[in-house]
Amino acid sequence: MAKAVRIHQIGGPEVLQWEETEIGKPSPEEARIKQTAIGLNYIDVYHRTGLYPIGDLPTSLGTEAAGVVEEVGEKVTNVAVGDRVAYAPVIGAYAESRLILADKLVKLPDSINDQTGAAMMLKGMTASYLIRKTYAVQAGDPVLIMAAAGGVGQILSQWAKHLGATVIGCVGSEEKAIIARSAGCDYTILYNTEDVATRVKEITGGEGAVVSYDSVGEATFLASLDSLRPFGYMVSYGNASGPVEALKVADLASRGSLFFTRPSLMPHTATRPQLDDLSQSLISLVASKTITITINQRYDLENIRQAHEDLEARRTSGSTVLIT
Ligand code: NDP
Repeated sequence: MAKAVRIHQIGGPEVLQWEETEIGKPSPEEARIKQTAIGLNYIDVYHRTGLYPIGDLPTSLGTEAAGVVEEVGEKVTNVAVGDRVAYAPVIGAYAESRLILADKLVKLPDSINDQTGAAMMLKGMTASYLIRKTYAVQAGDPVLIMAAAGGVGQILSQWAKHLGATVIGCVGSEEKAIIARSAGCDYTILYNTEDVATRVKEITGGEGAVVSYDSVGEATFLASLDSLRPFGYMVSYGNASGPVEALKVADLASRGSLFFTRPSLMPHTATRPQLDDLSQSLISLVASKTITITINQRYDLENIRQAHEDLEARRTSGSTVLIT
């Protein structure tokens, strides 16, 4: 038995229940891990509210965590008892212990502690594919990043800066602007009060950004489109303010033959070589301290409701971890 946070229905933070669950023995291809730290992600909110379907209920939420391998099935060869591991994205992370397909686990080097591992896997692998695959950022590119002080936002900002881009970060407050600049943003824009497209054009000498990485969704979608230069890339990868319900394809033409994509992490980690590529690109930059994973909030796992409330109320910055 172990404690886990589960939901029996979709809804607000009140549906998150801290309860006993049965873990059981690993099947031949599974490992059982004792989890020490769990990453909180905005996708957990989408699962809780039903914006993203989650399958049969009751279920545990959460998609990333770190811990120690306690037991392995007879066919498992990639990890052994005692290994420190992390994973993402695999549903069911809000738990003290869990079973998981061993093929989804990544070993953590000694230089990366469990909390950092839990804080970085989903957000950092997302940054990795966005910045290397969706649009491969080049030195000198003006890059626009929405919610730049957030979990994914801070990693993206640091990574873009490392690649030599001119990084323009949009944030919701002066306090978060300071955080975003310390994460590598050359310029910050307060998107609640400033005209984003006008500011981006000023910063880029009238040309516009090459790419907008937009995790805010509905509230910033048009500002992102208007901030791009001809042939720019509109990368809509999240819905913190609500989903973008309608795209008029003519809007892409009128702004100069823009490219539009709505990517997600799942197909980018579908195979083991893909998972290795994303995780190792991230681990090497974190281990070398090129990218710092900033954990600004910690909660005991049983206080999960407060963690969700704070994330949704925009009271968080950087990564948040839940401690078992
Ligand atoms: P964040 O830490 O970025 O938190 C969300 C931030 O969004 C807030 O802090 C806030 O920053 C900003 N925001 C703007 N408008 C709103 C609003 N109306 N309500 C709440 N927040 C708002 O979260 P994560 O790092 O966990 O995730 C960032 C985004 O990336 C999410 O949208 C998530 O869905 C997406 N994502 C997408 C993936 C993919 O593969 N497609 C994978 C992983 C994450 P501020 O106060 O500065 O405005």
